[in-house]
Amino acid sequence: MAPTDFEASELLGLDQDACRTVLGDLCGASLRPVELEFKSFHDCAYLTAKALGVQVRFTPADPSQARVDVVFLYNDGEGFAQYSAGPLPEGLQWSHHSKDVVLMLGEPSDKYGGGRFRAVGISYETLGLDIQFRESNWNDEKNPMAFVSIFPRLDPSHGLCQICGKLASFRCGLCKQRSYCSSSCQKADWTKHQGDCPGFLEKKASLRWEGELMLPRCQQLSRKLTSTLSEVFLDSMD
Ligand SMILES: [Zn+2]
Ligand SMILES: [Zn+2]
Repeated sequence: MAPTDFEASELLGLDQDACRTVLGDLCGASLRPVELEFKSFHDCAYLTAKALGVQVRFTPADPSQARVDVVFLYNDGEGFAQYSAGPLPEGLQWSHHSKDVVLMLGEPSDKYGGGRFRAVGISYETLGLDIQFRESNWNDEKNPMAFVSIFPRLDPSHGLCQICGKLASFRCGLCKQRSYCSSSCQKADWTKHQGDCPGFLEKKASLRWEGELMLPRCQQLSRKLTSTLSEVFLDSMD
């Protein structure tokens, strides 16, 4: 089958129905039998078209809110046909090995796997791309690609995480000045940051101001309440 101009990244953000339609159309074009496998877990779900070499992940698990957040394109193996419905991202080809990928795309933003059993993988978070290789040896320059994961690109303008130095994906919502990669890094920074977060300090100050405004009314109310109670009390004494 000749590659079409299908862009796999177009699956990102789709709900399950839309995704089934797109994958069904691609299966039809390839004249291969349409078989979509669906598996649900507690925090996500997967829809797999092995004949196309495509798998998508939905999050959250709740079907009414689930949207595709990762698209996996497979090389052949483990029951998958080699993905060929469209080009791979960034000009990659299935014939490329580990060294070719790094020569083409440069130093990755993250690396994972390795050791005795885990196949190695590299991330290019600003490209929205992970490449998982077949073998576990970092020194293997001829390591073939096992699959490619496509996800929303990280905006490099967020800078680096204040805590761990990874590419950040968001900023402090109160001051927009400190960047974090994850909510766990943000939590780790909060004890310190709440003392110098301009947004938080401003909010705290305005709460105190409202509190002062509230105070006379409360005092008034409680005075009134006291007098009423004493009136009631005195009434009942009669
Ligand atoms: Zn971090
Ligand atoms: Zn802040």
